Amino acid sequence: MKINSENLIKKLNEKWKGVNCPYCQSSEWTVDTSIVTPIEIGEKKEMKLGGRFQPLIPVSCRNCGNTVFINGLILGCLDDIENEIKSEGENGEEK
Ligand SMILES: [Zn+2]
Repeated sequence: MKINSENLIKKLNEKWKGVNCPYCQSSEWTVDTSIVTPIEIGEKKEMKLGGRFQPLIPVSCRNCGNTVFINGLILGCLDDIENEIKSEGENGEEK
C-alpha cells in the first residue's frame, strides 16, 4: 500500500478548500510520504499488533508544526500494490 501523492494533493485541495492552520492561520501545509497508524492498547496495557489498522497520512503546518492525520482510505488516495500485482498476474494468465 502506498500513497498516490498526486491524488492526495488534488483531493485535499478539493475537500479542504484552501483551509488555514487553526492554530497559526498559516496556509502552508506539507504532506508526508509515509503511511502511519496508531497502535491499540489492550486492557492489560499490552500493545495490540496485527489485525485492522487505519492508514493515516501526516499533514503538517509548515509554520507551527501542527500535524493532522488524514485517513488515506477515506480520502481515496492509496494505491494497493498487492492488488495491482495480483491483477497484473491474472491478466497475464488470461493471455
Ligand atoms: Zn500552524
